[in-house]
Amino acid sequence: MGLDNSEDCHYEHVEALIRHALIPRGVTDQRVLNALRRVPRELFLPEQDRHKAYDNAALPIACGQSISQPLMIGLMLQALDVQPHHHVLEIGAGSGYQAALLGVLARSVVTVERLEPLVDVARANLAACGSANVRVEYGDGSLGWPESAPYDRIIAACAAPHIPEPLKQQLRNGGRMILPVGSLEVQRTVIVRRRLDRFEEESTETCVFVPLLGEEGWSSSEMRQ
Ligand code: SAH
Repeated sequence: MGLDNSEDCHYEHVEALIRHALIPRGVTDQRVLNALRRVPRELFLPEQDRHKAYDNAALPIACGQSISQPLMIGLMLQALDVQPHHHVLEIGAGSGYQAALLGVLARSVVTVERLEPLVDVARANLAACGSANVRVEYGDGSLGWPESAPYDRIIAACAAPHIPEPLKQQLRNGGRMILPVGSLEVQRTVIVRRRLDRFEEESTETCVFVPLLGEEGWSSSEMRQ
């Protein structure tokens, strides 16, 4: 990644975030922390919010969506246990930030986004930070991305009412998936482990994500906007 010339204060700010907000809350996996050090979050934010890049906060991006809170990203990526040989699917590219982190951790990443303007945003941001092993696809990620399945790991950056069946089917045997599941207001992150045709589920953190909209998610008419 071409990240060597990042702004002077990047290093200092990311270390402060890691030391004060992530390690005390249990994000200690060195590979995850190193990925957070390598990918400048400011590159994925609109100009006016770049000074907030190392706040431990979810921040608005285009189309009324948001880039997740660094702590939540750290906890989810740590639980996902991505290995360097893994092929990963992300649902909800948004700004492309989490996909860039996955690109540092994995061999290859496919990320699906349902809002066309964000597909362009994510592609441009990923190109700007030199992320070469991440592909952004336009479509309904609640159906996964069958053309590139199976995946060693699957992660959703948006909340589902239930675990979408197509995602289970696209998970490799022995693979792992993490996604927020619950109501529109509040969810829990659920880890799913596949053992042949058995799927073990474990609920972890309480969280609040933007909704997964689509065939296996919420329908747009369920959204009061
Ligand atoms: N990972 C992103 C966070 C994006 S927020 C980042 O690091 O910036 C969640 C994203 O999920 C939004 O962009 C939203 O448009 C997208 N989304 C919601 N439902 C989707 C679906 N069915 N398929 C693909 N993307 C979806």
